[in-house]
Amino acid sequence: MPAIDIGGGNNYQAPFREWGKIMTVERILVTGATGFLGRHTLPVLRRHFGADRVVGVSSRDYDLLDRGQVDRMLAEIRPDVIVHYAAYCGGNLSNMQFPADFYYRNTMFVANVFDAAARAGVKKIVYPMGGCSYPADAVSPIGEDQLWRGYPQKESAAYSTAKMMGAVAAKAYKTQFGMNAAILIPGNMYGEYDNFNALAGHVVSGMIRRYLEARLSGAAEVVMWGSGRPTRDFVYAGDVAATIPFFIEGVEECDPVNVSSGRQTSIKELAEIIAGLTGFQGEIRWDTEKPEGQLDKSFRIDRLRALGLGCPTPLQEGLARTIAWFTANYANQGDGLRL
Ligand code: GDP
Repeated sequence: MPAIDIGGGNNYQAPFREWGKIMTVERILVTGATGFLGRHTLPVLRRHFGADRVVGVSSRDYDLLDRGQVDRMLAEIRPDVIVHYAAYCGGNLSNMQFPADFYYRNTMFVANVFDAAARAGVKKIVYPMGGCSYPADAVSPIGEDQLWRGYPQKESAAYSTAKMMGAVAAKAYKTQFGMNAAILIPGNMYGEYDNFNALAGHVVSGMIRRYLEARLSGAAEVVMWGSGRPTRDFVYAGDVAATIPFFIEGVEECDPVNVSSGRQTSIKELAEIIAGLTGFQGEIRWDTEKPEGQLDKSFRIDRLRALGLGCPTPLQEGLARTIAWFTANYANQGDGLRL
């Protein structure tokens, strides 16, 4: 059994509430454990369920494109719950360049893991989809009922529709095998362990990196994409991770649930907050030739609240943590920093 030490784990302790335990858990397998959300989640699960009940794996341990390796993984680890984070992710630019890879790999990750899990007797899968799975013309705040009402934003549709198959698989394997699933839809996630590579990254990591590099090099301006007018619903990854124990043991199964802050912030406001926190004092120039995506995107969080959950970290605080981590690891690319 792989025993990887993924290190890190933020010190963030989410407000914790008690819930009735619907199921008792013997062993939890986390795929994609060395990724962004995986690194936030492993310490939470280890604290909650006990370190010996949680096994994290990454692509170095098993290739989930290969069904034989997926079967071997389940035979070796024998989990009763899988938190299935492994995904092939990237920013808009790489999605537009490599849509076939995004489609194929994510389709296979879903198909192989759900089918192998059900046949191996796994009781439950916890699975996140992207907020980009909602229709391109979804009306904000976006409720979960809008999920199947239209085609997602075309730039990332190969990725997002492949990820949506997890919600289809959840229903299919419940009906045929009785396997439960909980499906989460996080908003625009940011936090420590994010990917800070410009091609792969999203706006928060992109801004933090550019501002700090501009400050270090003494550059007088940074160039950001679009007009700064779009709004997004940013959620701290530590908050999303803190909900996972509930989704494992507090509900039997659940249809997609938005897991976000429900707060709307414009890209311009975000730029100002990050400039303040990084100490960048130059000009911000907006390059309107660059893609800006949907104008407004925020999520309804009634369903999340009805489950007794929330994502409370204020944006300032989550960004300060992220910047502190990035700054501490930038010079020597420590703690697995991806640049
Ligand atoms: P998405 O549009 O919700 O998929 O998320 P992104 O994080 O890619 O982009 C959010 C918004 O931030 C868009 O309007 C972008 O135009 C804007 N933006 C501004 N600067 C950047 C940047 O450096 N990188 C990215 N990815 N987006 C940026």
